[in-house]
Amino acid sequence: MTQPLPPFMHPITGMVCEPAACTEDVVRASLIEAARSMQQLGINHGSAGNVSVRWHRGAADGMLITPSALPYEQCGVDDIVWVSMAAGQGTAALQVDGVRQPSSEWRFHHDLYVRRADARAVVHTHAPHCAALACLPQVQQQGIPAFHYMVAAAGGRDIRCAPYATFGTQALSDHVLAALTDRRACLMAHHGMIALGGALESALALAVEIEWLARTYALALQLGTPALLSDAEMDRVLDRFTRYRADPLDDLLAAEPDAHGRTAVPS
Ligand SMILES: [Zn+2]
Repeated sequence: MTQPLPPFMHPITGMVCEPAACTEDVVRASLIEAARSMQQLGINHGSAGNVSVRWHRGAADGMLITPSALPYEQCGVDDIVWVSMAAGQGTAALQVDGVRQPSSEWRFHHDLYVRRADARAVVHTHAPHCAALACLPQVQQQGIPAFHYMVAAAGGRDIRCAPYATFGTQALSDHVLAALTDRRACLMAHHGMIALGGALESALALAVEIEWLARTYALALQLGTPALLSDAEMDRVLDRFTRYRADPLDDLLAAEPDAHGRTAVPS
Protein backbone atom coordinates (compact mmCIF):
# COMPACT_ATOMS: atom_id res chain seq x y z
CA MET A 1 0.00 0.00 0.00
CA THR A 2 2.68 2.48 -0.94
CA GLN A 3 1.55 3.74 -4.35
CA PRO A 4 1.79 7.54 -4.59
CA LEU A 5 -0.93 9.47 -6.42
CA PRO A 6 0.69 10.76 -9.60
CA PRO A 7 1.93 13.41 -10.03
CA PHE A 8 2.38 13.41 -6.25
CA MET A 9 -0.53 15.72 -5.59
CA HIS A 10 -1.51 15.01 -2.00
CA PRO A 11 -5.20 14.01 -2.02
CA ILE A 12 -5.76 15.43 1.46
CA THR A 13 -4.06 18.85 1.24
CA GLY A 14 -3.97 19.29 -2.54
CA MET A 15 -0.31 20.29 -2.25
CA VAL A 16 2.51 18.84 -4.32
CA CYS A 17 4.45 16.51 -2.03
CA GLU A 18 7.20 13.94 -1.88
CA PRO A 19 6.03 10.37 -2.57
CA ALA A 20 7.10 9.32 0.94
CA ALA A 21 4.63 11.84 2.41
CA CYS A 22 1.81 10.43 0.34
CA THR A 23 1.70 6.70 0.93
CA GLU A 24 -1.62 4.88 1.00
CA ASP A 25 -1.38 4.34 4.76
CA VAL A 26 -0.77 8.07 5.33
CA VAL A 27 -3.82 8.89 3.20
CA ARG A 28 -5.93 6.24 4.97
CA ALA A 29 -5.03 7.79 8.35
CA SER A 30 -5.89 11.28 7.10
CA LEU A 31 -9.21 10.02 5.76
CA ILE A 32 -10.14 8.70 9.22
CA GLU A 33 -9.06 11.97 10.83
CA ALA A 34 -11.24 13.91 8.38
CA ALA A 35 -14.25 11.66 9.04
CA ARG A 36 -13.85 12.15 12.80
CA SER A 37 -13.49 15.92 12.38
CA MET A 38 -16.92 16.29 10.77
CA GLN A 39 -18.71 16.16 14.12
CA GLN A 40 -16.51 18.90 15.65
CA LEU A 41 -17.00 21.00 12.50
CA GLY A 42 -20.77 20.82 13.07
CA ILE A 43 -21.51 19.17 9.74
CA ASN A 44 -22.38 15.66 10.87
CA HIS A 45 -23.49 13.55 13.82
CA GLY A 46 -22.63 10.08 15.00
CA SER A 47 -21.47 7.63 12.34
CA ALA A 48 -23.61 9.15 9.57
CA GLY A 49 -21.96 10.45 6.42
CA ASN A 50 -18.86 9.20 4.63
CA VAL A 51 -15.71 10.53 2.98
CA SER A 52 -13.49 9.34 0.13
CA VAL A 53 -10.49 10.34 -1.97
CA ARG A 54 -9.47 9.29 -5.47
CA TRP A 55 -6.57 6.88 -5.19
CA HIS A 56 -4.72 5.20 -8.03
CA ARG A 57 -2.94 1.89 -7.53
CA GLY A 58 -0.43 1.93 -10.33
CA ALA A 59 -2.49 2.32 -13.50
CA ALA A 60 -5.73 1.30 -11.75
CA ASP A 61 -8.04 4.24 -10.99
CA GLY A 62 -9.92 3.86 -7.74
CA MET A 63 -10.95 5.46 -4.46
CA LEU A 64 -10.37 5.01 -0.75
CA ILE A 65 -13.62 5.27 1.23
CA THR A 66 -14.76 4.91 4.83
CA PRO A 67 -16.33 1.51 5.65
CA SER A 68 -19.95 0.60 6.26
CA ALA A 69 -21.37 0.16 9.77
CA LEU A 70 -18.29 1.09 11.79
CA PRO A 71 -18.15 4.15 14.11
CA TYR A 72 -15.36 6.51 13.05
CA GLU A 73 -13.81 6.30 16.53
CA GLN A 74 -13.28 2.56 16.02
CA CYS A 75 -11.98 2.88 12.47
CA GLY A 76 -8.34 2.02 11.79
CA VAL A 77 -6.28 2.28 8.59
CA ASP A 78 -7.02 -1.35 7.69
CA ASP A 79 -10.78 -0.67 7.81
CA ILE A 80 -10.64 1.81 4.92
CA VAL A 81 -11.77 0.18 1.66
CA TRP A 82 -10.28 0.61 -1.82
CA VAL A 83 -12.81 0.48 -4.65
CA SER A 84 -11.85 0.20 -8.33
CA MET A 85 -13.26 2.54 -10.96
CA ALA A 86 -12.86 -0.16 -13.63
CA ALA A 87 -16.51 -1.20 -13.46
CA GLY A 88 -17.67 2.24 -14.68
CA GLN A 89 -20.66 4.31 -13.68
CA GLY A 90 -23.92 2.59 -12.88
CA THR A 91 -22.65 -0.99 -12.84
CA ALA A 92 -23.12 -3.42 -9.99
CA ALA A 93 -19.81 -5.24 -10.61
CA LEU A 94 -18.05 -3.55 -7.72
CA GLN A 95 -14.38 -4.44 -7.29
CA VAL A 96 -13.24 -3.84 -3.73
CA ASP A 97 -10.13 -4.52 -1.68
CA GLY A 98 -10.56 -4.47 2.07
CA VAL A 99 -11.54 -6.43 5.13
CA ARG A 100 -14.81 -4.47 5.33
CA GLN A 101 -17.54 -3.40 2.96
CA PRO A 102 -17.41 0.18 1.63
CA SER A 103 -19.91 2.72 2.91
CA SER A 104 -23.47 1.96 1.81
CA GLU A 105 -23.29 5.27 -0.11
CA TRP A 106 -20.31 4.16 -2.22
CA ARG A 107 -22.26 4.51 -5.47
CA PHE A 108 -22.33 8.30 -5.74
CA HIS A 109 -18.70 8.55 -4.62
CA HIS A 110 -17.75 6.00 -7.29
CA ASP A 111 -19.90 7.55 -10.01
CA LEU A 112 -18.59 11.07 -9.28
CA TYR A 113 -14.98 9.94 -9.72
CA VAL A 114 -15.91 8.17 -12.95
CA ARG A 115 -17.75 11.18 -14.37
CA ARG A 116 -15.91 14.17 -12.83
CA ALA A 117 -12.20 14.54 -13.53
CA ASP A 118 -12.13 17.50 -11.10
CA ALA A 119 -13.27 15.31 -8.20
CA ARG A 120 -10.36 14.08 -6.08
CA ALA A 121 -12.26 14.06 -2.77
CA VAL A 122 -15.95 13.65 -1.85
CA VAL A 123 -17.60 14.47 1.49
CA HIS A 124 -21.17 13.37 2.31
CA THR A 125 -22.77 14.45 5.58
CA HIS A 126 -26.12 14.70 7.34
CA ALA A 127 -25.43 18.34 8.22
CA PRO A 128 -28.46 19.46 10.26
CA HIS A 129 -29.35 22.72 8.50
CA CYS A 130 -28.78 21.25 5.04
CA ALA A 131 -30.94 18.24 5.95
CA ALA A 132 -33.67 20.44 7.45
CA LEU A 133 -33.84 22.76 4.42
CA ALA A 134 -33.86 19.74 2.10
CA CYS A 135 -37.21 18.73 3.61
CA LEU A 136 -38.94 21.92 2.38
CA PRO A 137 -40.80 21.63 -0.96
CA GLN A 138 -39.60 25.08 -2.07
CA VAL A 139 -35.95 24.11 -1.46
CA GLN A 140 -36.42 20.74 -3.13
CA GLN A 141 -37.69 22.58 -6.22
CA GLN A 142 -35.49 25.68 -6.27
CA GLY A 143 -32.50 24.80 -4.10
CA ILE A 144 -30.83 27.53 -2.05
CA PRO A 145 -31.11 30.66 -4.22
CA ALA A 146 -28.66 33.58 -4.39
CA PHE A 147 -29.66 35.13 -1.05
CA HIS A 148 -25.93 35.61 -0.24
CA TYR A 149 -23.00 35.97 -2.62
CA MET A 150 -21.16 32.99 -1.03
CA VAL A 151 -23.77 30.70 -2.62
CA ALA A 152 -21.29 30.89 -5.51
CA ALA A 153 -19.02 28.64 -3.42
CA ALA A 154 -20.99 25.71 -4.84
CA GLY A 155 -19.96 26.79 -8.34
CA GLY A 156 -23.05 28.57 -9.68
CA ARG A 157 -25.94 30.96 -9.03
CA ASP A 158 -27.70 28.55 -6.67
CA ILE A 159 -27.18 25.35 -4.67
CA ARG A 160 -29.39 22.64 -6.11
CA CYS A 161 -31.25 19.97 -4.12
CA ALA A 162 -31.10 16.41 -5.52
CA PRO A 163 -34.51 14.65 -5.50
CA TYR A 164 -35.08 11.95 -2.89
CA ALA A 165 -34.26 8.31 -3.52
CA THR A 166 -33.52 5.50 -1.06
CA PHE A 167 -30.00 5.63 0.35
CA GLY A 168 -27.42 3.46 -1.37
CA THR A 169 -29.39 3.15 -4.63
CA GLN A 170 -28.33 3.88 -8.18
CA ALA A 171 -31.32 6.23 -8.44
CA LEU A 172 -29.89 8.39 -5.64
CA SER A 173 -26.47 8.43 -7.32
CA ASP A 174 -28.06 9.51 -10.62
CA HIS A 175 -29.99 12.31 -8.86
CA VAL A 176 -26.85 13.54 -7.07
CA LEU A 177 -24.75 13.58 -10.25
CA ALA A 178 -27.44 15.57 -12.08
CA ALA A 179 -27.73 18.11 -9.23
CA LEU A 180 -23.94 18.50 -9.24
CA THR A 181 -23.75 19.38 -12.93
CA ASP A 182 -21.48 22.46 -13.04
CA ARG A 183 -21.52 22.48 -9.23
CA ARG A 184 -19.23 21.35 -6.40
CA ALA A 185 -21.95 20.84 -3.78
CA CYS A 186 -25.67 20.10 -3.49
CA LEU A 187 -28.34 19.29 -0.94
CA MET A 188 -30.07 15.89 -0.93
CA ALA A 189 -33.83 15.85 -0.29
CA HIS A 190 -34.80 14.33 3.09
CA HIS A 191 -31.16 13.33 3.56
CA GLY A 192 -28.22 15.78 3.76
CA MET A 193 -25.57 17.24 1.51
CA ILE A 194 -22.52 16.38 -0.58
CA ALA A 195 -19.40 18.39 -1.48
CA LEU A 196 -16.46 17.57 -3.71
CA GLY A 197 -13.07 19.15 -4.23
CA GLY A 198 -9.59 18.90 -5.65
CA ALA A 199 -8.46 17.61 -2.25
CA LEU A 200 -10.11 16.44 0.96
CA GLU A 201 -9.35 19.61 2.92
CA SER A 202 -11.03 21.84 0.33
CA ALA A 203 -14.02 19.46 0.09
CA LEU A 204 -14.41 19.58 3.89
CA ALA A 205 -14.08 23.37 3.90
CA LEU A 206 -16.76 23.58 1.23
CA ALA A 207 -19.05 21.31 3.27
CA VAL A 208 -18.62 23.68 6.25
CA GLU A 209 -19.39 26.65 4.00
CA ILE A 210 -22.55 25.01 2.59
CA GLU A 211 -23.79 24.21 6.11
CA TRP A 212 -23.18 27.86 7.14
CA LEU A 213 -25.16 29.03 4.10
CA ALA A 214 -27.98 26.58 4.89
CA ARG A 215 -28.13 27.78 8.50
CA THR A 216 -28.14 31.42 7.45
CA TYR A 217 -30.78 30.87 4.76
CA ALA A 218 -32.98 29.06 7.29
CA LEU A 219 -32.58 32.03 9.65
CA ALA A 220 -33.46 34.50 6.88
CA LEU A 221 -36.59 32.47 6.02
CA GLN A 222 -37.71 32.78 9.64
CA LEU A 223 -37.38 36.57 9.45
CA GLY A 224 -39.22 37.07 6.17
CA THR A 225 -38.76 36.57 2.45
CA PRO A 226 -35.07 37.01 1.55
CA ALA A 227 -34.26 39.33 -1.34
CA LEU A 228 -32.06 37.70 -3.97
CA LEU A 229 -28.99 38.87 -5.84
CA SER A 230 -29.43 39.21 -9.59
CA ASP A 231 -28.01 36.71 -12.09
CA ALA A 232 -25.68 39.46 -13.35
CA GLU A 233 -24.29 40.07 -9.85
CA MET A 234 -23.79 36.36 -9.21
CA ASP A 235 -21.98 36.09 -12.54
CA ARG A 236 -19.67 38.94 -11.41
CA VAL A 237 -18.97 37.10 -8.16
CA LEU A 238 -18.24 33.85 -9.98
CA ASP A 239 -15.96 35.70 -12.38
CA ARG A 240 -14.03 37.40 -9.56
CA PHE A 241 -13.53 34.08 -7.79
CA THR A 242 -12.30 32.28 -10.90
CA ARG A 243 -10.28 35.00 -12.66
CA TYR A 244 -6.95 34.67 -10.94
CA ARG A 245 -6.77 31.08 -9.78
CA ALA A 246 -6.92 27.67 -11.37
CA ASP A 247 -9.04 26.35 -8.49
CA PRO A 248 -11.98 28.73 -7.83
CA LEU A 249 -12.75 27.04 -4.53
CA ASP A 250 -9.36 28.00 -3.13
CA ASP A 251 -10.09 31.60 -4.05
CA LEU A 252 -13.59 31.52 -2.59
CA LEU A 253 -12.51 30.10 0.72
CA ALA A 254 -9.33 32.15 0.95
CA ALA A 255 -11.47 35.27 0.52
CA GLU A 256 -12.98 35.02 4.01
CA PRO A 257 -11.07 32.37 5.93
CA ASP A 258 -11.52 33.95 9.35
CA ALA A 259 -14.91 35.64 9.19
CA HIS A 260 -16.78 32.53 10.27
CA GLY A 261 -13.97 30.68 12.01
CA ARG A 262 -13.39 28.36 9.10
CA THR A 263 -10.14 26.63 8.33
CA ALA A 264 -8.27 28.31 5.49
CA VAL A 265 -7.50 26.21 2.45
CA PRO A 266 -3.83 26.09 1.43
CA SER A 267 -3.34 28.45 -1.50
ZN1 LIG B 1 -26.27 9.66 3.99
